[in-house]
Amino acid sequence: MHPGRAARTTWNSKQTGADRLTLGGALAANIHGRGLRLPPIVGDVEAFTLIGPNGLSHLCSRTENADLFRLAIGGYGLFGIIADVTLRLMPRVPVQRSVEILTLEELVSVPELRDTTVWLFGDFQFSIDENSPDFLQRGVFSAYCRCDEPPIEFAAQHQLRKSDWEELMWLAHTDRAKAWDVYSRFYRSTHGQRYWSDTHQLSVYLDQYHTAPDHRLVSQCPCSEMISELYVPRDVLREFMSRASDLLRSGETPVIYGTIRLIERDTETLLAWAREPWACIIFNLHCEHSPVGLACAASAFRALIGIALSLGGSFYLTYHRWASRSQVEAAHPNFRKFLAEKKARDPAGIFSSDWYLHHRDLFAEQ
Ligand SMILES: Cc1cc2nc3c(=O)[nH]c(=O)nc-3n(C[C@H](O)[C@H](O)[C@H](O)COP(=O)(O)OP(=O)(O)OC[C@H]3O[C@@H](n4cnc5c(N)ncnc54)[C@H](O)[C@@H]3O)c2cc1C
Repeated sequence: MHPGRAARTTWNSKQTGADRLTLGGALAANIHGRGLRLPPIVGDVEAFTLIGPNGLSHLCSRTENADLFRLAIGGYGLFGIIADVTLRLMPRVPVQRSVEILTLEELVSVPELRDTTVWLFGDFQFSIDENSPDFLQRGVFSAYCRCDEPPIEFAAQHQLRKSDWEELMWLAHTDRAKAWDVYSRFYRSTHGQRYWSDTHQLSVYLDQYHTAPDHRLVSQCPCSEMISELYVPRDVLREFMSRASDLLRSGETPVIYGTIRLIERDTETLLAWAREPWACIIFNLHCEHSPVGLACAASAFRALIGIALSLGGSFYLTYHRWASRSQVEAAHPNFRKFLAEKKARDPAGIFSSDWYLHHRDLFAEQ
């Protein structure tokens, strides 16, 4: 920063993997980024305006309409439309990327061993090669530490271009050992590069990227990656990943991409998914959209949820609808209360979704 010039302020964290996302959607899903010591986005929200089912707008903050604040953040759009948001911003600072290959134990000890007032962001992309002993056990940890020097021009830096992502996607479907090798070598080549704390969170998303592999593999039906997010206490991450690798090693639902983030507790929203300072594990599994393929994916996702629950963990509610009612209840103890609030505040069901209707019916059944 030049002396005498005000620091530019910016968002604390945003989603990774895509940029064409709204703030209304971010609050409704109570999203996370890759902060090393951050709760979900609720921690960045000062206030917002909610237009409720009767068409009236309400300013919501921790002191005004605090009940709606707790419900609408992480409320999946069911309590009204978030029309504007006042965010708590941070000064934009230069950060330097550090790239290391870590084990799971090394990953979970990062917040204890490093000063997270200077180590701001990080994520861990684990090995997806089911034939390797490293499968789900070791990963590339890319972390971002405050530095003094601003970054050089973005165009002059090592970065993955659209064609590199396409090639990586192809390899992840056909040769996961090579995909992992290319991916980790690329990341290691970026060790030491400097970025801005906001723009390093932007990412390329390839629309319809699965069409090309489907075509090249002469798939009999459309395929996609299906995402799931599981949460476990950090001290049992290794056990979770070991059991997950036993489940997924067969390759019936190949892991195309996976990452682990560290998330701090959300003590504010009613349907908080970050009930603890979890390790947050994201799996993108390849899924064939045929009856057999979908049944296979459903069974894998239910089993992953089962493993997380058996270790005191949880799962993210809206990525798919495979969880059983008992799994939803065990992972989200406030779920019935959430449904009751929805019914009381929007009896005509003005705001609805397939996801909501599925869960309303799931919980109505005896
Ligand atoms: C490629 C990709 C990467 C992603 N990465 C991450 C990640 O790193 N971290 C993470 O937490 N999530 C991630 N997500 C999930 C995504 O962040 C959330 O679904 C987010 O809510 C998407 O915002 P959107 O604007 O697209 O909303 P939509 O997907 O359109 O809607 C999501 C929910 O928000 C509600 N909603 C949308 N707008 C409003 C509004 N104005 N008022 C009230 N409710 C509203 C909808 O009803 C719906 O329930 C990712 C998704 C994709 C596709």
